[in-house]
Amino acid sequence: MGDVGVTAAQLILARAEAAGVVVEVDGDRLHLRAAAALPTDLVQELISAKAELLDLIAEREAIRSELTPPASGGAADDPFDVPQDEMLEGLRHAALRRPASWRGVDAIPTTGCWCVCCHGNHWWCRRVAPRCWLCSTCHPSPPNTATIEVQT
Ligand SMILES: [Zn+2]
Repeated sequence: MGDVGVTAAQLILARAEAAGVVVEVDGDRLHLRAAAALPTDLVQELISAKAELLDLIAEREAIRSELTPPASGGAADDPFDVPQDEMLEGLRHAALRRPASWRGVDAIPTTGCWCVCCHGNHWWCRRVAPRCWLCSTCHPSPPNTATIEVQT
């Protein structure tokens, strides 16, 4: 044993796994699990490539465990796994979003609201018709216009 190259060992492993064999390493032992009896030549090849297979599988396990994030790092993987206060803050922020202008002079800009276009928080409304609320950045008030201004 130990006289088979790594590439050959990879091929043997691939053949074994394609045949439904689960190859596991336990220290310096190779465990083979298969639902059905294996062809003798495949078993023979697996045995002759044991040393390389042990290295191959150990290396594969190491890479796999590196790819698996630590349990505490779940937030990055699952966009819905967010602490509740962060989620509430996000929802509150989204709820305070306003268009750059809207009809309905009674719908006064509320504290904390922000313009969906420029993220601004300064609004104005004419004192006389036509009256609507507008973002001061996106829709600056024309000169010499009597306005009501609100900072949110
Ligand atoms: Zn704006």
